[in-house]
Amino acid sequence: MDLDKLIRNVPDFPQKGIMFKDITTLLSDAEGFAYAIDKMEERYRDKKIDKIIGIESRGFIFGAPLAYKLGCGFIPVRKPGKLPYESIKEDYSLEYGKNTLEIHIDALREGERVVIIDDLLATGGTAKAAANLITRLKGDIVSIDFLVELEFLNGRDKLKGYSVHSYLKY
Ligand code: AMP
Repeated sequence: MDLDKLIRNVPDFPQKGIMFKDITTLLSDAEGFAYAIDKMEERYRDKKIDKIIGIESRGFIFGAPLAYKLGCGFIPVRKPGKLPYESIKEDYSLEYGKNTLEIHIDALREGERVVIIDDLLATGGTAKAAANLITRLKGDIVSIDFLVELEFLNGRDKLKGYSVHSYLKY
């Protein structure tokens, strides 16, 4: 299956000069979406993963079905002000702008094996902030995975020391 054909390129969104990789066209394709989740599940089937960490919001779309298929828990890492219980936060900058990510303080137990999931790796700031949150909660980051990687932005440089995997590279 060629997932690349299911991803739509939208130039100049959300601002001039950004080529936005639109995954909604993949999500609406039943076979394509199932294939993407199946590939992720195959990779972690026997890896004793305790929790999938999904980064808001497109990381939720891939992370939640993956957790279900693996039979493990799902933890949302969210944009500021969304989580109801006591949380910790990390600020970061991204390809276009600045933001903050938060996680509940009791989301993980020490040493739990986690995989962080997002739709796309651009400059790596978002994923690094999520990894920092997990490290502060003493989770064991098995890997940080993305459906899509924009290699020319060198996001992996920010994630040195972690296993990083992507299924589609541009
Ligand atoms: P970064 O922190 O720079 O790695 O940015 C990654 C986050 O921004 C991911 O959550 C992506 O969903 C989103 N993002 C950044 N650049 C793009 C792009 N060119 N196309 C689609 N999503 C993007």
